[in-house]
Amino acid sequence: MKRIFLIALLCVVATTKAQETGLFHNEEQFTRQDTLRGSITPERAWWDLNYYHLDVAVEPSKKYISGKNTIRYKVLSSAQTLQVDLQPPLKIEKVTQNDKELTFTSEGNAHFIHLKEKQNKGDYNEVVVYYSGHPKEAIRAPWDGGFSWKKDKNGNDFVATSCQGLGASVWWPNKDHMYDEVDSMKISVTVPKNLMDVSNGRLIGVDEHEKTKTFHWFVSNPINNYGVNVNIGDYVHFGEKYEGEKGTLDMDYYVLKDNLDKAKEQFKQAPKMMEAFEHWFGPYPFYEDSFKLVEVPYLGMEHQSSVTYGNKYQDGYLGRDLSGTGWGLKFDFIIIHESGHEWFANNITYKDIADMWIHESFTAYSENLFLDYFYGKEASAAYVIGTRKAIQNDIPIIGKYNVNNEGSGDMYYKGANMLHTLRQLVEDDEKWRSILRGLGEKFYHQTVTTQQIEGYLSKETGIDLTAFFNQYLRTVMIPKLEYSINNNTLKFRYTDIVEDFDMPIQVFINQKEQWIYPNKDWKEVNADTPIKEFKVDEDFYILNQEI
Ligand SMILES: [Zn+2]
Repeated sequence: MKRIFLIALLCVVATTKAQETGLFHNEEQFTRQDTLRGSITPERAWWDLNYYHLDVAVEPSKKYISGKNTIRYKVLSSAQTLQVDLQPPLKIEKVTQNDKELTFTSEGNAHFIHLKEKQNKGDYNEVVVYYSGHPKEAIRAPWDGGFSWKKDKNGNDFVATSCQGLGASVWWPNKDHMYDEVDSMKISVTVPKNLMDVSNGRLIGVDEHEKTKTFHWFVSNPINNYGVNVNIGDYVHFGEKYEGEKGTLDMDYYVLKDNLDKAKEQFKQAPKMMEAFEHWFGPYPFYEDSFKLVEVPYLGMEHQSSVTYGNKYQDGYLGRDLSGTGWGLKFDFIIIHESGHEWFANNITYKDIADMWIHESFTAYSENLFLDYFYGKEASAAYVIGTRKAIQNDIPIIGKYNVNNEGSGDMYYKGANMLHTLRQLVEDDEKWRSILRGLGEKFYHQTVTTQQIEGYLSKETGIDLTAFFNQYLRTVMIPKLEYSINNNTLKFRYTDIVEDFDMPIQVFINQKEQWIYPNKDWKEVNADTPIKEFKVDEDFYILNQEI
């Protein structure tokens, strides 16, 4: 999710937002807080996350939360200071290890816990972090993040968390860096008795108290921090069994009571999504934890195994077609896009948010593969090409490393068009599909760098894609084909390219399609008859100009 919002709005608004958040690289000033948040500090590097038990009580009437997180970790190398992140105004009340209270020092969002017991390599130890307070309220979730405190039509509290980018430490204490995913997690959420909490994974128990209920959820697979969520509302449940590539998958849906009928109709797209994405990307990566759609009071987010939904039960992106071709109204954007993230974001996760294209480019690309599966290749191509109008080429897609910095919002549709272009270069759809499915297998449940993904794609396609990725991910230049025609001869070359960029493209010469092999130097091809018509195949994301 995340920056789609910018694309959907006017340029002016996007620019203002980018300036506010310091997205323009030449204006960026990074702080020590950015480094503490965005890098693998020495106080993070020596321990490996194994298990969390987040146990939190949510009081909507006071917009207040309190609880604790038990953090189990494996000691990789001996050290005595452990960094945990929690953002004000939330406060750490105390930290314990083996029931003994520990001291800690705080520096903004980072808290350094001073361990008393010797940390021996290979040991599994636990710290328990107690915390409470009024968490940051999300005003425009999911674009800002925090807690959304809303009411449903019947006046019931309708509450949800979202925190991509600013980090899960906005509502619970954790190791708030993406490189280290916890291996499994229990989430216990106490809510007013008339309401229900839906979190990630499977519901393993409900405790009844006098005025409250505690819902216990368990995630048996690795999960990234921002994927963890709490959704509280007057929910009703329906579900189905899906016979998928890895057996029977539980698909469960939690929606507000009043929306049950609409949801039963709209969510028919969920098994269709599963069918298309298992075909293109391989088995759903979290069979053990089930798949869920959960209604929330904001647009949506890729929370792992509990994808959140707020697209108001209509097709398109809040009823709009982002491609302008009509194809974007053939599916519910949030069901398709956010669920696509189960493969790219939740299964394969970036180590550093600078490489967020790994999440968003593949997932934006998944929108047209959904269309491809049900409506064919032409529909799919029309859609992805249609989304080019949203590309801004403001800053590179890859952001700055180690300071929690995202690159351009072009990670969506420029990234999708880059992958669509790559599909043309492979020129074999079955091979392309097996390459995409191979990604899910090779990087199953891992956090990765862009180098790993780029290297894999070069190897599996058999094409050296170094310059290709440098061009599209690391510059704002779109390759331009300059050409001239003289009788039977076409002269051409690329400009606005990085060194060694020499991507072949398909062109139509007198309506006949053929490959040409441009690079920075002028080249020519000769046709049998005078060239009357010349066109670049639109499937390739380049510009062209007759000179
Ligand atoms: Zn997304």
